Amino acid sequence: MAKKPKPLVAGNWKMNGLLSSRRELARLARKLARSKQKPRCEVIVCPPATLVALARVEARGSRLAIGAQDCHQAPSGAHTGDISAEMLVDAGAAAIIVGHSERRADHGERNADVAAKAAAAHRAGAVAIVCVGETGAEREARRTLSVVSAQIKGSLPDGTTAANTVIAYEPVWAIGTGLTPTPRDIAAVHAHIRKRLTALLGAEHAERMRILYGGSVKPDNAGEILAVDNVDGALVGGASLKAEDFLAIVGTYRK
Ligand code: PEP
Repeated sequence: MAKKPKPLVAGNWKMNGLLSSRRELARLARKLARSKQKPRCEVIVCPPATLVALARVEARGSRLAIGAQDCHQAPSGAHTGDISAEMLVDAGAAAIIVGHSERRADHGERNADVAAKAAAAHRAGAVAIVCVGETGAEREARRTLSVVSAQIKGSLPDGTTAANTVIAYEPVWAIGTGLTPTPRDIAAVHAHIRKRLTALLGAEHAERMRILYGGSVKPDNAGEILAVDNVDGALVGGASLKAEDFLAIVGTYRK
């Protein structure tokens, strides 16, 4: 049997953060470096593109990795206002979040677009954090598993491996709402995702690929959520903006 993947706690700052946020990043990096008992997980923060290079400087020498949010599929060219995976990696990003429901909803991104962006992340040498998840209406129509299956199948490009890709299961109705599925529901969806990954990529990659849960993870519910079977970490939005809250979530892996 393949070794269980090392958990990952990833922070998604979304469209938040100014140059002054470097202090929060520095605090996070310092506290992670100082903590006596090292958490048994990897930690990454994905600030907006304007802060990636600065965040990399603040995180240097610490256990904090820096990622980014979204990228264009092309490496360079006439795409005003866009940013390539190569640029983000050049600035210090080790991972790129793609297919977030806010991108799917606000920018009409389809699975094929997400797959192209994930391929761009791979090409640039970054890990693609590929987000999937059902809307509230899809959940009520009991379509969660079929929606997630289609997203997984359509959003993972050729060449996807356990090393270059992380899946984030983020029910859209749980993002930023304070609502979360029950541990039992999370377990059912994560087991289903593992099964789909096995069918698509083979057992070796599927067992080693990290499947994160995202959607209203907070210090007070992280322990219960991160203990669920097949949950290999969390993608954290709002609670990643404050070093104390994010560290408390990371600290779940110390207990
Ligand atoms: C997210 O948007 O990736 C997310 C998980 O947000 P929140 O934790 O704020 O629900």
